[in-house]
Amino acid sequence: MTAGEVDTSRSAEWMARAEAVFPGGVNSPVRAFRAVGGTPRVIARAAGPRLWDVDGNELIDYIGSWGPMILGHAHPEVVAAAQAAVERGTSYGAPNVLEVELAEEITAAMPSLERLRFVSSGTEAAMSALRLARGYTGRDKIIKLAGGYHGHADALLVRAGSGAAGIGRPTSAGVTEAVAAETLIAPYNDVRAVQRLLDEHGTSVAALIVEPVAANMGVVPPAAGYLESLRRLTHEAGALLIFDEVITGFRVARGGAQALYGVTPDLTVLGKIIGGGLPVGAYGGRAEIMAEVAPDGPVYQAGTLSGNPVAMACGLATLRQLNDDVYRQLDEYGATIEAGLSDAARSAGSLLKVVRVGSLLTAFFDDDASFGRFFHGMLSRGVLLPPSQQEAWFVSAAHTYVELRATLVAARAALREMAA
Ligand code: PMP
Repeated sequence: MTAGEVDTSRSAEWMARAEAVFPGGVNSPVRAFRAVGGTPRVIARAAGPRLWDVDGNELIDYIGSWGPMILGHAHPEVVAAAQAAVERGTSYGAPNVLEVELAEEITAAMPSLERLRFVSSGTEAAMSALRLARGYTGRDKIIKLAGGYHGHADALLVRAGSGAAGIGRPTSAGVTEAVAAETLIAPYNDVRAVQRLLDEHGTSVAALIVEPVAANMGVVPPAAGYLESLRRLTHEAGALLIFDEVITGFRVARGGAQALYGVTPDLTVLGKIIGGGLPVGAYGGRAEIMAEVAPDGPVYQAGTLSGNPVAMACGLATLRQLNDDVYRQLDEYGATIEAGLSDAARSAGSLLKVVRVGSLLTAFFDDDASFGRFFHGMLSRGVLLPPSQQEAWFVSAAHTYVELRATLVAARAALREMAA
């Protein structure tokens, strides 16, 4: 099948209407396909590992809502939990049972979170964790690693200045130079660069925030000993170590990257999976640090929809399914795709290289144009990949070898077409 044979006229019509109401026709930039070109599919429904667009085309999904859908779409237990919760009311603005149960589930899986606070997105969680780190330490600066993404709070939309490391510069219009100057940047997996920043600014650094497995520049695992070094250096400097586990939490292991690599941060940022597809984030850590958060302490942070009962119900239903068997299965699926893609690349003479941690993986091409061709080759064959090679593919427990085989057949054909 070639791209020309797939009818996408309804998606195109809806995207035209969307462009009249949203910037770029979307509510989050990556959805607009700018990195790969073409028109996004508008999704009508989803079940298990599959999506259906408004033209009725079926797609095997590797976006998985960018992480939350670890059980696949519309998992019966999650749907039932959501329905039951909705019937009891959608929001109270008062304490509820489900938020306590979900928090207990999380703290049991990730013991470094002695206390936590629910918010409504990963952005909000990261932003709040930084404010807390600053309030707790009485220091202003933070260290962020180049290529790391922690949501769109001002202090985190910052890249390296002229050198590879040092004072940050805004990556977004609307972020002031003054805010960006409080963010110091070091390359990922470079211990010496962090050491240099701490030597120079140590007594004014409140925290270092890191994705323990980088997943927003494509998947890049931590070098051996890297996380341990960050732990030691931040401790020596009196700065907090913040793990942003919005992607890795309950994904690379039930206890997240901190369990997988055995390194304990002071604060952890969570999102995505803990809401089972509904808007949830959380930040948490040692009780003594969390005691600084209002109303116990002076660091203010609040949210009308925080701990929302429907979102808590979906999160709880999701996390309760995630046992060792699920993680074993996910790792097997990831390994199957990695091996199949690498093999397909070899026979097609492609430079594609797969990097994987469990069920997170990226197929890196030597340039974005090649990735764009591969992406469209896959899409026209019914496989939806993240529309940028800076993003991770997310495999779910609802995928089966049927979808994996179909994916690898499509990949072989797409790579052959590219070589032709
Ligand atoms: N941190 C990481 C590591 C992320 O990948 C993301 C989103 N992809 C965020 C934070 C922000 O989360 P949200 O989109 O829910 O605001």
